[in-house]
Amino acid sequence: MIKDIQLRVTLQEEKQSDILTRKSAQFLDISSNDIIGIKVLRKSIDARKKSIVFNYKVAVYINEPLPETSEYHFDYKDVSNAKPIHIIGFGPAGMYAALRCIELGFKPIVLERGKNVQDRRRDLKAINQDHFVNEDSNYCFGEGGAGTYSDGKLYTRSLKRGDVRRVFENLVFHGATDQILVDAHPHIGTNKLPKVVQNVRETIINNGGEIHFETRVTDFIISKVEIKALVLQNGQTMDVERVILATGHSARDIYYLLHDKNIALEAKSFAMGVRVEHPQHIIDSIQYSCSSERDALLPAAAYSLVEQVNERGVYSFCMCPGGFIVPAATANGEVVVNGMSPSKRNNQFANSGIVVEINADKDLYKYEHFGVLKALKYQEDLERLAFTAGGRSQVAPAQRLTDFVNGKLSSDLNPSSYQPGLKSAPLHSLLPKLIGGRLRNGFKAFGEKMKGFYTEEANIIGVESRTSSPISIPRNERLEHPQISNLFPCGEGGGYAGGIVSAAMDGERCAEAAIIGL
Ligand code: FAD
Repeated sequence: MIKDIQLRVTLQEEKQSDILTRKSAQFLDISSNDIIGIKVLRKSIDARKKSIVFNYKVAVYINEPLPETSEYHFDYKDVSNAKPIHIIGFGPAGMYAALRCIELGFKPIVLERGKNVQDRRRDLKAINQDHFVNEDSNYCFGEGGAGTYSDGKLYTRSLKRGDVRRVFENLVFHGATDQILVDAHPHIGTNKLPKVVQNVRETIINNGGEIHFETRVTDFIISKVEIKALVLQNGQTMDVERVILATGHSARDIYYLLHDKNIALEAKSFAMGVRVEHPQHIIDSIQYSCSSERDALLPAAAYSLVEQVNERGVYSFCMCPGGFIVPAATANGEVVVNGMSPSKRNNQFANSGIVVEINADKDLYKYEHFGVLKALKYQEDLERLAFTAGGRSQVAPAQRLTDFVNGKLSSDLNPSSYQPGLKSAPLHSLLPKLIGGRLRNGFKAFGEKMKGFYTEEANIIGVESRTSSPISIPRNERLEHPQISNLFPCGEGGGYAGGIVSAAMDGERCAEAAIIGL
């Protein structure tokens, strides 16, 4: 017999190895000896009260053994001689589209502008140390896309858009820890992601798929309502039947290309702001109500904040406990910051994007003449402004949080995890009012909600501008572009995802749509 039950375990009890068995036996009023095994289905921490509690959902196996296999089975077969589907971009959307093609008996041919995960590392080092951005290989471009050297947080709000559990099981199948199947806030970590991505590559290649790295698509040859061929950066062309466009939201050249070819795009509301960085112990002490170091059983504390300021949302985004701030620019001449953390989340800083909702219809009237590209142009301008304010390198403009709110240039800055370095800059006057004014009020409100958050020990660092796509590429109910019947806009770049999991689910969906009628 199997019984699913909920248990509450205190921090002290959590230290006892057999606690789940004992609590389950007590709860079910049976002997511990009758329990053959316990499978944790869900685990979360409730730190809202002084006494921290771990909430468990467990399946108790009474006089019955635990099953060894997962309910999900990934059936990858040889597709070397199968019909091809061309996939542009090998981020989470492109990877999951390719895997799904193989499951469905089609051959994915992936074209990726960046390098494989190993070679990509050298280019990341060059951004951090030499301030040189390789425009095809950086934190956003390369094998695994923006998802590889990311934080690897896996929670998503897009539960209705697909089978989240299937995405997780597939990550585990490719080497991610099975802890992600259980945690309420699953996280892989930037140190573990490259291996998972490499394993996905091997599955695709070993089953007859193709992945062409350092192969940027620069043009489409279109006849009537179909793409007939892709033009590659070396001038070669490649004939195609179905194309999944999974180039992510940093591939501005793709938006410009589509626009130049009069292929419909739509301006989209999005969000921009800054990254705030605190010493992790401050966030721990607030969230766990502890004066000294957090208990070793507790993970680095996170937070999630939201406030409505002058009719726009101001909210925390991609919070990275125990993490780093990284330079996520995709071109020289711009500064973009983002965050990541290793699997152990053991760095001494906590960082998060704090961003303001930008309504593309109401807020960008000065950019109206750019038409559907207006939000993209606004984003580009902010990134160039950050580049200039930082001193024209990957050094990022920064300010103490309290100085920003009080409109004062910081005479010095707090230590930071951001490797290229920080330069004190008057972000309070540099940022457009639309963003800066709302951020100031937002930070004050956050300080009220989370006592200790508003502190001179925190820096804000600019700019956090790549939260989601400023453009969407329309598609119909068959997931095809309304004008180009064999083009399937996919993932974050199409405006159909906002993170690793939603991009992966969209990749699967586009693969399923792209094979119809082939
Ligand atoms: P992308 O991942 O952007 O992939 C697009 C791919 O297309 C890239 O590899 C690019 O090189 C390639 N490409 C672009 N143009 C061309 C072309 N012309 N020809 C060929 N190839 C091309 N999300 C989360 O859910 N959790 C997190 O913790 C998280 N942390 C992040 C941390 C950082 C530092 C960054 C940068 C992002 C983070 N994200 C996180 C966001 C997440 O990575 C993206 O939402 C996700 O990767 C989007 O997937 P995608 O496949 O749609 O696009």
